[in-house]
Amino acid sequence: MMRRSRPAGPDPARLGGAKFAPPPVRAAEPVVFETVPFRTTESPPRELNLRHVVSGPRPSRGPVLMIAGTSVRANIFSPPTEDTLPGMLSRAGFDVWISNWRASFEFAPSRFYLDDAAVHDHPAAVATVLAATGAQTLKAVVHCQGSTSFMMSLIAGLVPEVTTVVSNSVALHPQFPTLAFLKLPLAVATFGKVMPYFNPQWGLHASGFWPKVFDWAVRATHHECNNAVCKHTSFTYGSGFPTLWSHENLDEATHEWIKGEFGFVPVTFFEQMEKCALHGKLMSMGVYDELPEDMLAQPPQTGARFVFMTGDQNRTFLPSGMAKTFDYFDAIAPGRHVFQQMAGYGHLDVFLGRHAARDVFPFIVDELGRD
Ligand SMILES: [Zn+2]
Repeated sequence: MMRRSRPAGPDPARLGGAKFAPPPVRAAEPVVFETVPFRTTESPPRELNLRHVVSGPRPSRGPVLMIAGTSVRANIFSPPTEDTLPGMLSRAGFDVWISNWRASFEFAPSRFYLDDAAVHDHPAAVATVLAATGAQTLKAVVHCQGSTSFMMSLIAGLVPEVTTVVSNSVALHPQFPTLAFLKLPLAVATFGKVMPYFNPQWGLHASGFWPKVFDWAVRATHHECNNAVCKHTSFTYGSGFPTLWSHENLDEATHEWIKGEFGFVPVTFFEQMEKCALHGKLMSMGVYDELPEDMLAQPPQTGARFVFMTGDQNRTFLPSGMAKTFDYFDAIAPGRHVFQQMAGYGHLDVFLGRHAARDVFPFIVDELGRD
């Protein structure tokens, strides 16, 4: 199999999608999790948790930490499809841990910046997994704002034990489609001034004046399906119809399942995205000494190998942003890192898609197995 890296100039192979030999694994079986609590490093600490796969074969290839985005929870990687990424990783011999960091809607809504997670959540999650497994190092699969915040931890040298990172959708260069780029400051300046959080659950039950106004705005502009939560996520996270996936890529059960898999997201998060959009790169809010404000201002304090991936139809974060992050790392260590676009996929359907186990997961398993 050829290693994929981005050559100079346009390369049609980058758009070719993933065609990989499937890993030597058994057919999918139900994946069983245990919940392992951990405490963040702030004072007083927050009580968060990790979902740890305990079914499947005895792990032989070390721990993999998965981190989801905002507005969701660890369970977002376990849609009701025939196979899931945690299941496939587990069957391939990895010890799979999924973080419910402070963005998880399993916890009470709170206002936070990515900085808080980069300093207090992710290093604590890494330490918990290493302590529980006895491993010296681990690999990571990080998505969306789990990726941006984990990139901050990595850049700042807060998680030196991480050796390989598969980063999906966005990393150091959040780039938005034009309409979403224009909508972002508008949303922060209007709804953001009167509500501390947005919540796609308002599509099912909006209580209070502003949530009702927000829901009205969604109903007035989104007619692409009959799933109110699906439409709210599209309105909240960009300008697509839908934004986070293609309807064609989701089976009916998964499209229905997402109704229960989206919750609060604090407006502070959109404030930070607005700052990143203005600067054209990932920026911290400058509240912690541990983090640089400009993530590109110093050499990355990590020895990890990076696998940057995104759907070529991504309408949440443009693939050109991920290409830019790849170029940044490729310039530091030419040929070491990888950039892969998944043909026909968007932002989140790389994990939820009806054919993701065929088109996407084998690529991730393969890359995690390379080091
Ligand atoms: Zn829908």
